[in-house]
Amino acid sequence: MTADRPKSARVFCIANQKGGVGKTTTAINLAASLALHGQRVLLVDLDPQGNATMGSGIDKNAASVNLYQVLIGEADVAEARIRSETGGYDVLPSNRELSGAEIDLVQMDDREMQLKQALSKVAQDYDFILIDCPPTLSLLTLNGLAGAHGVIIPMQCEYFALEGLSDLVNTIKRIYRNLNADLELIGLLRVMFDTRMTLQQQVSAQLESHFGDKVFKTVVPRNVRLAEAPSYGQPGVIYDKSSRGARAYLAFGEELIRRVGGQIRPRAA
Ligand code: ATP
Ligand code: MG
Repeated sequence: MTADRPKSARVFCIANQKGGVGKTTTAINLAASLALHGQRVLLVDLDPQGNATMGSGIDKNAASVNLYQVLIGEADVAEARIRSETGGYDVLPSNRELSGAEIDLVQMDDREMQLKQALSKVAQDYDFILIDCPPTLSLLTLNGLAGAHGVIIPMQCEYFALEGLSDLVNTIKRIYRNLNADLELIGLLRVMFDTRMTLQQQVSAQLESHFGDKVFKTVVPRNVRLAEAPSYGQPGVIYDKSSRGARAYLAFGEELIRRVGGQIRPRAA
Protein backbone atom coordinates (compact mmCIF):
# COMPACT_ATOMS: atom_id res chain seq x y z
CA MET A 1 0.00 0.00 0.00
CA THR A 2 2.76 2.44 0.90
CA ALA A 3 5.34 0.93 -1.45
CA ASP A 4 4.86 3.60 -4.10
CA ARG A 5 5.13 6.51 -1.70
CA PRO A 6 8.27 8.67 -1.75
CA LYS A 7 10.84 7.47 0.78
CA SER A 8 11.22 10.93 2.17
CA ALA A 9 8.98 13.98 2.37
CA ARG A 10 9.13 16.86 -0.05
CA VAL A 11 9.82 19.91 2.09
CA PHE A 12 8.37 23.23 0.88
CA CYS A 13 8.51 26.68 2.45
CA ILE A 14 5.55 29.00 2.04
CA ALA A 15 7.40 32.30 1.98
CA ASN A 16 7.12 35.96 1.11
CA GLN A 17 8.92 38.66 3.07
CA LYS A 18 5.86 40.86 2.69
CA GLY A 19 3.40 40.70 5.59
CA GLY A 20 -0.24 39.73 5.32
CA VAL A 21 -0.10 38.33 1.78
CA GLY A 22 -1.74 35.00 2.58
CA LYS A 23 1.20 32.75 3.57
CA THR A 24 -0.47 31.22 6.61
CA THR A 25 -3.85 30.86 4.89
CA THR A 26 -2.06 29.06 2.06
CA ALA A 27 -0.03 26.86 4.43
CA ILE A 28 -3.09 25.72 6.43
CA ASN A 29 -5.35 25.17 3.45
CA LEU A 30 -2.69 23.48 1.35
CA ALA A 31 -1.91 21.13 4.27
CA ALA A 32 -5.61 20.24 4.61
CA SER A 33 -6.07 19.95 0.86
CA LEU A 34 -3.09 17.61 0.49
CA ALA A 35 -4.45 15.53 3.40
CA LEU A 36 -7.82 15.30 1.63
CA HIS A 37 -5.93 14.05 -1.44
CA GLY A 38 -4.49 11.24 0.69
CA GLN A 39 -1.08 12.74 1.48
CA ARG A 40 0.66 12.49 4.86
CA VAL A 41 1.46 16.08 5.85
CA LEU A 42 3.40 17.89 8.56
CA LEU A 43 2.82 21.66 8.85
CA VAL A 44 5.71 23.45 10.57
CA ASP A 45 4.76 26.77 12.16
CA LEU A 46 7.94 28.81 11.81
CA ASP A 47 6.28 32.06 12.89
CA PRO A 48 6.20 33.13 16.57
CA GLN A 49 2.73 34.59 15.87
CA GLY A 50 1.54 30.96 15.95
CA ASN A 51 -1.26 31.61 13.44
CA ALA A 52 -0.78 28.34 11.57
CA THR A 53 -1.00 26.49 14.89
CA MET A 54 -4.21 28.23 15.99
CA GLY A 55 -5.78 28.02 12.54
CA SER A 56 -5.25 24.26 12.65
CA GLY A 57 -7.33 24.08 15.84
CA ILE A 58 -4.40 23.76 18.26
CA ASP A 59 -4.02 26.03 21.31
CA LYS A 60 -0.55 27.50 20.82
CA ASN A 61 -0.12 28.30 24.51
CA ALA A 62 -1.00 24.77 25.60
CA ALA A 63 1.80 23.29 23.46
CA SER A 64 4.53 23.22 26.10
CA VAL A 65 6.86 21.27 23.84
CA ASN A 66 6.98 23.16 20.56
CA LEU A 67 9.25 24.24 17.73
CA TYR A 68 11.34 26.38 20.08
CA GLN A 69 12.55 23.35 22.06
CA VAL A 70 13.16 21.49 18.80
CA LEU A 71 15.33 24.27 17.33
CA ILE A 72 17.50 24.57 20.42
CA GLY A 73 17.97 20.81 20.57
CA GLU A 74 15.91 20.13 23.69
CA ALA A 75 13.19 18.06 22.00
CA ASP A 76 12.62 15.94 18.92
CA VAL A 77 9.95 16.69 16.32
CA ALA A 78 8.33 13.39 17.27
CA GLU A 79 7.71 14.69 20.81
CA ALA A 80 6.51 18.13 19.76
CA ARG A 81 4.17 17.37 16.86
CA ILE A 82 0.42 17.44 17.47
CA ARG A 83 -2.37 16.14 15.25
CA SER A 84 -4.74 18.70 13.78
CA GLU A 85 -7.99 16.78 14.18
CA THR A 86 -9.85 19.31 12.07
CA GLY A 87 -7.26 19.35 9.29
CA GLY A 88 -6.12 15.71 9.15
CA TYR A 89 -2.40 16.57 9.30
CA ASP A 90 0.30 16.96 11.95
CA VAL A 91 1.49 20.34 13.22
CA LEU A 92 4.81 21.33 14.71
CA PRO A 93 3.36 24.13 16.86
CA SER A 94 4.79 27.52 17.82
CA ASN A 95 4.08 30.48 20.03
CA ARG A 96 5.85 33.62 21.24
CA GLU A 97 8.60 31.52 22.82
CA LEU A 98 9.94 30.98 19.31
CA SER A 99 11.07 34.59 19.00
CA GLY A 100 13.70 33.77 21.66
CA ALA A 101 15.15 31.08 19.40
CA GLU A 102 16.92 33.73 17.30
CA ILE A 103 19.15 34.59 20.24
CA ASP A 104 19.89 30.96 21.13
CA LEU A 105 20.57 30.05 17.50
CA VAL A 106 23.12 32.82 16.93
CA GLN A 107 25.44 31.11 19.39
CA MET A 108 25.12 27.66 17.82
CA ASP A 109 27.29 26.01 15.18
CA ASP A 110 25.31 25.26 12.03
CA ARG A 111 22.73 27.75 13.19
CA GLU A 112 20.90 27.79 9.85
CA MET A 113 20.72 24.00 9.75
CA GLN A 114 18.89 23.20 12.97
CA LEU A 115 15.44 22.80 11.42
CA LYS A 116 16.77 20.67 8.57
CA GLN A 117 18.53 18.35 11.00
CA ALA A 118 15.43 18.03 13.19
CA LEU A 119 13.09 17.36 10.25
CA SER A 120 15.37 14.73 8.74
CA LYS A 121 14.39 12.38 11.57
CA VAL A 122 10.70 12.41 10.60
CA ALA A 123 11.00 12.88 6.83
CA GLN A 124 10.05 9.27 6.16
CA ASP A 125 6.75 9.72 8.05
CA TYR A 126 5.36 12.19 5.52
CA ASP A 127 4.75 12.86 1.84
CA PHE A 128 4.92 16.64 2.35
CA ILE A 129 6.36 18.91 5.00
CA LEU A 130 5.12 22.50 4.64
CA ILE A 131 6.86 25.34 6.49
CA ASP A 132 4.87 28.52 7.19
CA CYS A 133 7.52 31.29 7.25
CA PRO A 134 7.29 34.61 9.09
CA PRO A 135 7.27 37.87 7.07
CA THR A 136 10.97 38.56 7.66
CA LEU A 137 14.29 37.30 6.47
CA SER A 138 15.37 36.26 9.95
CA LEU A 139 17.45 33.36 11.15
CA LEU A 140 14.17 31.49 11.53
CA THR A 141 13.32 31.98 7.85
CA LEU A 142 16.88 31.03 6.90
CA ASN A 143 16.38 27.76 8.79
CA GLY A 144 13.24 27.19 6.75
CA LEU A 145 14.87 27.95 3.40
CA ALA A 146 18.04 26.02 4.23
CA GLY A 147 15.99 22.95 5.09
CA ALA A 148 13.59 22.95 2.15
CA HIS A 149 13.58 21.51 -1.36
CA GLY A 150 11.46 24.31 -2.68
CA VAL A 151 9.62 27.55 -2.12
CA ILE A 152 6.00 28.36 -2.83
CA ILE A 153 5.33 32.10 -2.97
CA PRO A 154 1.79 33.31 -2.38
CA MET A 155 1.27 36.79 -3.73
CA GLN A 156 -1.33 39.41 -4.35
CA CYS A 157 -1.40 40.91 -7.82
CA GLU A 158 -0.73 44.49 -6.77
CA TYR A 159 1.27 47.31 -8.25
CA PHE A 160 4.49 46.70 -6.29
CA ALA A 161 4.22 42.91 -6.35
CA LEU A 162 6.78 42.38 -9.10
CA GLU A 163 9.36 44.56 -7.37
CA GLY A 164 8.99 42.68 -4.06
CA LEU A 165 9.19 39.46 -5.99
CA SER A 166 12.58 40.20 -7.50
CA ASP A 167 14.01 40.76 -3.97
CA LEU A 168 12.64 37.41 -2.91
CA VAL A 169 13.90 35.60 -5.99
CA ASN A 170 17.37 37.10 -5.37
CA THR A 171 17.25 35.89 -1.76
CA ILE A 172 16.36 32.40 -2.94
CA LYS A 173 19.30 32.48 -5.38
CA ARG A 174 21.68 33.53 -2.60
CA ILE A 175 20.49 30.74 -0.34
CA TYR A 176 20.78 28.30 -3.23
CA ARG A 177 24.43 29.33 -3.75
CA ASN A 178 25.49 29.54 -0.10
CA LEU A 179 23.39 27.20 1.99
CA ASN A 180 21.19 24.86 0.04
CA ALA A 181 21.85 23.64 -3.50
CA ASP A 182 18.57 21.66 -3.45
CA LEU A 183 16.43 24.78 -3.21
CA GLU A 184 14.16 25.57 -6.14
CA LEU A 185 11.31 27.94 -6.81
CA ILE A 186 8.33 25.61 -7.04
CA GLY A 187 5.89 28.31 -8.04
CA LEU A 188 4.01 31.53 -7.54
CA LEU A 189 0.45 31.33 -6.29
CA ARG A 190 -1.90 34.21 -6.99
CA VAL A 191 -4.07 34.74 -3.91
CA MET A 192 -6.83 37.13 -2.73
CA PHE A 193 -7.55 37.63 -6.40
CA ASP A 194 -10.38 39.90 -7.45
CA THR A 195 -11.28 39.40 -11.11
CA ARG A 196 -13.18 42.69 -11.18
CA MET A 197 -9.98 44.66 -10.78
CA THR A 198 -8.25 45.48 -14.06
CA LEU A 199 -4.97 46.18 -12.29
CA GLN A 200 -4.91 42.69 -10.80
CA GLN A 201 -5.52 41.18 -14.21
CA GLN A 202 -2.68 43.23 -15.67
CA VAL A 203 -0.23 42.23 -12.94
CA SER A 204 -1.36 38.63 -13.26
CA ALA A 205 -0.65 38.70 -17.01
CA GLN A 206 2.78 40.27 -16.36
CA LEU A 207 3.57 37.50 -13.90
CA GLU A 208 2.69 34.87 -16.46
CA SER A 209 4.87 36.49 -19.10
CA HIS A 210 7.87 36.85 -16.73
CA PHE A 211 7.64 33.54 -14.91
CA GLY A 212 5.82 31.26 -17.37
CA ASP A 213 5.28 27.78 -15.97
CA LYS A 214 6.40 28.88 -12.53
CA VAL A 215 3.00 30.53 -12.08
CA PHE A 216 0.50 28.00 -10.76
CA LYS A 217 -2.64 27.66 -12.89
CA THR A 218 -4.84 27.78 -9.81
CA VAL A 219 -5.86 31.27 -8.71
CA VAL A 220 -7.21 31.72 -5.16
CA PRO A 221 -10.00 34.31 -5.06
CA ARG A 222 -10.62 36.77 -2.25
CA ASN A 223 -13.21 34.89 -0.23
CA VAL A 224 -14.51 35.76 3.20
CA ARG A 225 -15.00 32.10 4.21
CA LEU A 226 -11.21 31.62 4.14
CA ALA A 227 -10.81 34.59 6.49
CA GLU A 228 -13.51 33.35 8.88
CA ALA A 229 -12.26 29.77 9.19
CA PRO A 230 -9.28 30.36 11.57
CA SER A 231 -11.54 31.71 14.30
CA TYR A 232 -13.21 28.28 14.29
CA GLY A 233 -9.83 26.53 14.42
CA GLN A 234 -10.49 24.99 11.01
CA PRO A 235 -8.86 25.17 7.58
CA GLY A 236 -11.17 26.91 5.10
CA VAL A 237 -11.31 23.75 2.97
CA ILE A 238 -12.97 21.99 5.93
CA TYR A 239 -14.99 24.90 7.35
CA ASP A 240 -16.92 25.49 4.13
CA LYS A 241 -15.78 23.05 1.51
CA SER A 242 -18.13 24.35 -1.16
CA SER A 243 -16.93 27.96 -0.93
CA ARG A 244 -14.95 29.37 -3.83
CA GLY A 245 -11.86 29.75 -1.66
CA ALA A 246 -12.01 26.15 -0.49
CA ARG A 247 -12.46 24.84 -4.02
CA ALA A 248 -9.44 26.82 -5.15
CA TYR A 249 -7.20 25.39 -2.43
CA LEU A 250 -8.47 21.88 -3.18
CA ALA A 251 -7.52 22.40 -6.82
CA PHE A 252 -4.17 23.85 -5.78
CA GLY A 253 -3.34 20.74 -3.71
CA GLU A 254 -4.07 18.59 -6.73
CA GLU A 255 -2.01 20.82 -9.03
CA LEU A 256 0.96 20.68 -6.64
CA ILE A 257 0.85 16.89 -6.33
CA ARG A 258 0.83 16.58 -10.11
CA ARG A 259 3.59 19.16 -10.49
CA VAL A 260 5.94 17.19 -8.24
CA GLY A 261 5.01 13.86 -9.79
CA GLY A 262 3.11 12.59 -6.75
CA GLN A 263 0.03 10.41 -6.72
CA ILE A 264 -3.45 11.48 -5.67
CA ARG A 265 -5.14 9.08 -3.26
CA PRO A 266 -8.69 10.18 -2.49
CA ARG A 267 -9.23 9.70 1.21
CA ALA A 268 -12.09 7.42 2.23
CA ALA A 269 -15.01 9.63 3.32
P1 ATP B 1 1.93 37.39 8.07
O1 ATP B 1 2.90 38.03 7.14
O2 ATP B 1 1.47 38.27 9.19
O3 ATP B 1 2.37 36.04 8.53
P2 ATP B 1 0.38 36.03 6.08
O4 ATP B 1 1.14 36.32 4.84
O5 ATP B 1 0.56 34.71 6.71
O6 ATP B 1 0.59 37.17 7.18
P3 ATP B 1 -2.44 35.54 6.27
O7 ATP B 1 -2.43 35.61 7.75
O8 ATP B 1 -2.63 34.21 5.63
O9 ATP B 1 -1.16 36.25 5.69
O10 ATP B 1 -3.56 36.49 5.65
C1 ATP B 1 -3.69 37.86 6.02
C2 ATP B 1 -5.18 38.19 6.20
O11 ATP B 1 -5.85 38.01 4.95
C3 ATP B 1 -5.89 37.27 7.19
O12 ATP B 1 -6.84 38.01 7.89
C4 ATP B 1 -6.55 36.22 6.30
O13 ATP B 1 -7.70 35.67 6.89
C5 ATP B 1 -6.89 37.05 5.07
N1 ATP B 1 -6.89 36.24 3.85
C6 ATP B 1 -5.89 35.44 3.37
N2 ATP B 1 -6.22 34.89 2.19
C7 ATP B 1 -7.47 35.34 1.91
C8 ATP B 1 -8.38 35.14 0.82
N3 ATP B 1 -8.06 34.38 -0.24
N4 ATP B 1 -9.57 35.77 0.87
C9 ATP B 1 -9.91 36.57 1.91
N5 ATP B 1 -9.12 36.79 2.96
C10 ATP B 1 -7.91 36.20 2.96
MG1 MG C 1 1.49 34.22 8.55
